[in-house]
Amino acid sequence: MKSTRFIPYGKQSISDRDIASVVEVLKSDWITQGPTVSKFEQAFSVKLKAPWSLAISSGTAALHLSCLVQELKPQDEVLVPAVTFIATANAVVYAGARPRIVDIDPKTGNICADDILRKINKRTRGIIPVHFGGNPADMNRIRQIANKYKLFIVEDSCHALGASYEGEPPGPRRESDLSVFSFHPVKHITTGEGGMITGKSKRFRNALLKLRNHGITKNPGEFQNSSEGDWYYEQQELGYNYRITDFQCALGISQLKRLDEFVAKRRKIAERYRRAFKNSDLIECLDENPKGKSSYHLFVGLLVLVNLRTNRKVIFQKLREKGIGVQVHYIPLHFQPFYQDLLSLKAGDFPNAENFYERAISLPIYPLLTEKEQDYVIESVLELLNKYKS
Ligand SMILES: *Cc1c(COP(=O)(O)O)cnc(C)c1O
Repeated sequence: MKSTRFIPYGKQSISDRDIASVVEVLKSDWITQGPTVSKFEQAFSVKLKAPWSLAISSGTAALHLSCLVQELKPQDEVLVPAVTFIATANAVVYAGARPRIVDIDPKTGNICADDILRKINKRTRGIIPVHFGGNPADMNRIRQIANKYKLFIVEDSCHALGASYEGEPPGPRRESDLSVFSFHPVKHITTGEGGMITGKSKRFRNALLKLRNHGITKNPGEFQNSSEGDWYYEQQELGYNYRITDFQCALGISQLKRLDEFVAKRRKIAERYRRAFKNSDLIECLDENPKGKSSYHLFVGLLVLVNLRTNRKVIFQKLREKGIGVQVHYIPLHFQPFYQDLLSLKAGDFPNAENFYERAISLPIYPLLTEKEQDYVIESVLELLNKYKS
């Protein structure tokens, strides 16, 4: 069987209703800085049982501002997993501090709590766990450690919208914590580009509101000088334009209504991969956190035999030639020239991350993937693994 169209590893699903809701806002008076932004925030808060939500221009901007409000000093360190998208660590650098890389749990790709303990020192201020692929990190243990050492947690939940941990959606449990989401088209719901921050602390919410909009406040109660008239506003610190538009938020509201259906489909696809690979000794699936439920942003398989690892490049290429958009998530942070330079790191420093990286291959998973397409992926993967195992 040959597939006619390219099957990517992930992509959006946009319905006619999604489109209609965007068009409606485009025809209204407010395409940015209007009422749809807070409507999206409210809907998100309800869905995630969050005290507040703040919509923002991207997941990266959300991470940046979440680190910025922690008021980090140049020598401060924030712990990040070695296997994540670079934006997780970049946010710490944007905020003027240093990321400290932590090795991963080889069975899940999530940050390793034991290695967190090894990496904590007197400069450590916070932890940014990433729920890798949508599978919740070991949050009880991470919160315990954060409490003991007085660290903040910024959850990078960009993979984890729709996931749960002990029956609860990802989100902060303590005043000091924030949780960050992305609405890039490969993520669970999309606004094109976009992101969200959820939190509990009112102080953080006010600070983030200002930072999202140039450091400006229009709230008379916050003015440092007296108002000169109705036009008056104050810039009180250096902020950014990290606003999201109303028509993006219209898409977000409409997509959020479909989240449960999206996650159910992703879990079904994951289940089918697991069943297909269960009796194979060539590819291994990641463990799901027994306390949680993954939302399967990614489906990562790990190649088992040494020969398969050394042949991953060809296997990858052959799958691409067959129209299957496999990916590798992720090149470990300490392999990036920028971080090698900044943090004086080298290959060998994070053995679990390196081992994981050598073996990982992400297979297509998204709501519109058909069973037929998935069967074609499974068949092609198993065929190539058998061909290159020796
Ligand atoms: C997608 C992603 C981001 C960044 O989100 P953008 O909306 O693309 O800026 C950050 N961290 C992780 C783990 C991601 O997967």
